[in-house]
Amino acid sequence: MKTVSMIACVVAVSAILRPAFAQDEEIAGSLPPASLPSDALPLGGVITYVGNEGVVIEYGPAKIAVDALYDDGLGDYVETPAAIHAAMVAGDDPFDGITDVFVTHAHKDHYGPAAITDYLTAHPDVYALVPADLKVEGEGRETPAQPVLKQVVPLAGRDGIASPLNHGANFTWRFFQVPHGGRQHVVYWFALPPFERSVAEAAGAGISEQDLTILHLGDTDDYPEDLEPHRAAFAEHRTDVALVPFWLLDEPGLAELLNADQLIGIHVPVMGSSSLDADTMDWFSDPGEQRIIYKNMED
Ligand SMILES: [Zn+2]
Repeated sequence: MKTVSMIACVVAVSAILRPAFAQDEEIAGSLPPASLPSDALPLGGVITYVGNEGVVIEYGPAKIAVDALYDDGLGDYVETPAAIHAAMVAGDDPFDGITDVFVTHAHKDHYGPAAITDYLTAHPDVYALVPADLKVEGEGRETPAQPVLKQVVPLAGRDGIASPLNHGANFTWRFFQVPHGGRQHVVYWFALPPFERSVAEAAGAGISEQDLTILHLGDTDDYPEDLEPHRAAFAEHRTDVALVPFWLLDEPGLAELLNADQLIGIHVPVMGSSSLDADTMDWFSDPGEQRIIYKNMED
């Protein structure tokens, strides 16, 4: 049986740009040929880009969104097209079945009170995990509308502090307090299991390392000082993909500090940037484009 290197596979697929709302056959068409055992675990996770730092991450039954509900690109950054926002609110594929939406901080290019309110109104079972100061009005700040506030879960803490592991409905996550722009700002780490199972079952099946692990750095400004306090925590778990603001992409040693296999840039200006190098970097720029991150491949 032909074997496939997971790393090589990730690199190969990450170069593929996909149109918005990829159909099933398009995703199927990109899978490796029939060299895999028929009882293989689900082969990959999918990250769908919706604009600026907004992504929807799917792996097995787990699907979450980060910074995907905002109203304003501040003139320089990619705004979510109305059709994609409408598809999210409507819960159309590939945005169906999102269980939780996460917000890194309350700046307008990451969080929109109207966008969040629309979404949570349409999805009363979905929770929004947000920095605690996002729920505090004043100084021009706007909170989500009163009827959906019960779905908005504040994350407290101060800079430099990491949360303990939290357990969602079917995935594990934690957050790290990192300074940015005078607002509370958090970096998220997620571990999405490939299918619903207990920890004991996973260990018995020898697949405890096969969660899809994603780090979202939000608008982390200063490297390495703002990330160094969390180096030990990042070292606890290998990260498959770190979503990194483009201004950090060329920082030497970043992938090592994050303990990440792959970096994908986000927050890329509409006009692009001279610091981006297509030969050595990958980044999101077109809402609707996707990356498939292969997992559970044989070495
Ligand atoms: Zn920003």
